[in-house]
Amino acid sequence: DENLILQFQITLYGDDERLVMARDITRLHRLEQMRRDFVANVSHELRTPLTVLAGYLETYGDMAEMLPERLGRGIGQMQSQTKRMQNLVNDLLLLSRLENDQGGHDDIRIDPTSLLEAVRRDAEALSEGHHQLEVAVEEPRGLLGSEKELHSTVSNLAFNAVRYAGEGSRIVLRWRPWGDGACLEVEDDGEGIDPLHIPRLTERFYRVDKGRSTATGGTGLGLAIVKHVLLRHDAQLEIDSRLGEGATFRCIFPAARLTDAAPASRRA
Ligand code: ADP
Repeated sequence: DENLILQFQITLYGDDERLVMARDITRLHRLEQMRRDFVANVSHELRTPLTVLAGYLETYGDMAEMLPERLGRGIGQMQSQTKRMQNLVNDLLLLSRLENDQGGHDDIRIDPTSLLEAVRRDAEALSEGHHQLEVAVEEPRGLLGSEKELHSTVSNLAFNAVRYAGEGSRIVLRWRPWGDGACLEVEDDGEGIDPLHIPRLTERFYRVDKGRSTATGGTGLGLAIVKHVLLRHDAQLEIDSRLGEGATFRCIFPAARLTDAAPASRRA
C-alpha cells in the first residue's frame, strides 16, 4: 500500500546491536487529519453567521441611547461575547492552517529591532501605561522567517506579559545571542507561573487560572499558535518561570535561520 505510514524506532545496544521496531500509524494519521479538517471546517462555517451577528449588534449598539438601559447593557454583553467567539474561531482557523502547512515559503529577512519596536508600541497601547516596556537588542544578526507570523508570536508573548504579569511590572523584549543561534525573548518580573504548569502551557485551551484568563479576553490558544509558528521556523520555545519570580519566554532560532548583520547605519 503506497499510502502506508510507518513509524520506526531504532534502539542501540552496545556497539553493534540494533533493535528496529516498525509501527503502522496509518490509521492514527488519518484520524488526526480528519480531526484537523473537522475543526477547520467548523471554524470556517461559523465565521459568516458570526459576522452577521456582529454587524447587527453594532447597529443596535449605535442606538443604545434610545433603548431602555437593560436592553442597552444586554447588547453590550452580546457584542463582547460575539467578539470573543470571533477571536476563538479565528485562532482555531489559524492553528489548523499552521498545522496543515509546512511553511518556509514566505521567508524574508527580518530586522529584529523594528519587529520588537512595533510589538512594544502595540503592547504599550494594551498596557495603558500600567507596565514598563523596554526593547533590548544584543545581537547584530538578522532573522530569516515570516514577518507576519513572527510578529504575531512576539505580540502573543508580550500581550500575555501585559495581561498576566500584574500592574507595575517591567517587561523586556529582547533579541540576544543564544549558543550559535539567537533568541527572541519576552521577560517579565511579574507573578510568574508554577513550574508544575509549564510543560502543559502550549496545549490548546490550557490555562493556569481559568477565571482570570477568561476575563483577560484570551482564547487559550495563544501559546499553542506560538509553538506551531516556531516549529515552522526550526525554532524552539523555552519557558523559564517560578511562582512570584516573573516569567521568561524564549524563541530560540538556530544559526541557519540568521542573516548577516545589518549595515552599521541601520544598527540601533
Ligand atoms: P490565554 O492567554 O488566551 O489564556 P495562552 O496560551 O496565551 O492563552 O496562555 C496560556 C496560559 O499561560 C495563560 O492562561 C496564563 O495562565 C499563562 N501565562 C502566559 N503568559 C504568562 C506570563 N507572562 N505570566 C504568567 N502567566 C502566563
